Amino acid sequence: MSDRQPAGPAGQSTVPQGAHLLDGTPAEPSLVSSAPLSRRDFAALGGAAALGALMPRPITGGDRHGAGGATHIEPVGKDIEAPEPLPSFRYPIESQTGRVYAAGSAKESTVKQMPVAEGLAGVSMRLQPGAIRELHWHALAAEWAFVLTGRCQTTTFDPEGRSEVNDFGPGDVWYFPRGFAHSIQGLGPGECHFVLIFDNGHFSEYGTFSVTDWTSLTPTHVLAQNFGLPEAAFAKLPKGELYIGPGKVPAANATARPDGSAHDAPLTHKFRLLAQAPRESPGGTIRIVSSVEFPISGGMTGAYLTIAPGGLRTMHWHPNADEWQYYVAGRARLTVFGSSGRARTEDVSAGDATYIPRGYGHHIENTGTEECQIVAGFNSGIYQEVGLAAWMHNVPPALLADNLGIDEEQGRRIEHAAVPIAARS
Ligand code: MN
Ligand code: MN
Repeated sequence: MSDRQPAGPAGQSTVPQGAHLLDGTPAEPSLVSSAPLSRRDFAALGGAAALGALMPRPITGGDRHGAGGATHIEPVGKDIEAPEPLPSFRYPIESQTGRVYAAGSAKESTVKQMPVAEGLAGVSMRLQPGAIRELHWHALAAEWAFVLTGRCQTTTFDPEGRSEVNDFGPGDVWYFPRGFAHSIQGLGPGECHFVLIFDNGHFSEYGTFSVTDWTSLTPTHVLAQNFGLPEAAFAKLPKGELYIGPGKVPAANATARPDGSAHDAPLTHKFRLLAQAPRESPGGTIRIVSSVEFPISGGMTGAYLTIAPGGLRTMHWHPNADEWQYYVAGRARLTVFGSSGRARTEDVSAGDATYIPRGYGHHIENTGTEECQIVAGFNSGIYQEVGLAAWMHNVPPALLADNLGIDEEQGRRIEHAAVPIAARS
């Protein structure tokens, strides 16, 4: 193999001789030290735990996490013989206080609040009429949003010098690629409440690059020279980061920009997700917006699910993306299957955030008396899922009988259950 990873520095062992990667395949020869650890050394380092620590960490997703500096580490147990139990994948995001201002508020879920959520973070934000989530950008993540209630207006400016102003109402989605300049403002009447999802679990909404943060750190003579204005023009600059502040309610459908400013962006940042016809299932509905339907959304896919009482979002997994969910309404039981004899079930309800690592099996039961509504985000612009029932329908019934003990006649009937959301049985 020519693309071997180099062995560790001279004299430093990387993986003990004969070691196996955690999926059972032998470690690459190049990773095996010429001076293997003795059994005692290995034990002193914490045995199998040390093996995990010494293992080269797989970096997946390429650009997806690259710029954020976050690598996706499979949360496998450290001890091969006794895997660690699955960690909690639920965080009650709406029960925290978050950042509260007169004009609005923000509550977040990152790896700090929900350690399993390496690949995605989320925020619940509220803006009063006219309130500004100030001009800012993100170094670490793209931003996907779903408006729950009220109306707001965004502005964005891209690296090609193109801009767009858009109004949003309930069920509308926006997407800003990583690093794109943007702002959000409440349009009223009433509060606007939306959920933001970011394609990096290490992203904090409280660590964004805000314009007032920068200008308040910059000498006035530099600002004057930079903007070609007299120093007096900056007399009212906020001292420190504004983040969320009051403002005048802007005109709706404001598409006009100052004379001579850049032209419209060729790819719109707005998608009307709830205005799309859903994919109907016996027990509910699914709407999905990937880069196929919404071309600018290159790094993320979003979804809106409804599950009727007694309904089941059927057993499935996503081969190419982690999933971050926000429960808008209802009560449910979410189960995540993590291999090695591990599964975890948690009761979730409106106001909770949850996270399912890439490849982990999962299903959702509506345990309440009202419809369960879920907003979900995935950190890939390509949507993929594999449904267990759809798969089993494609397995020869004789193999199914040998593997699962389901007799062939029953096996042939699995087709009828191969739906995204099954009705109450
Ligand atoms: Mn933002
Ligand atoms: Mn899913």
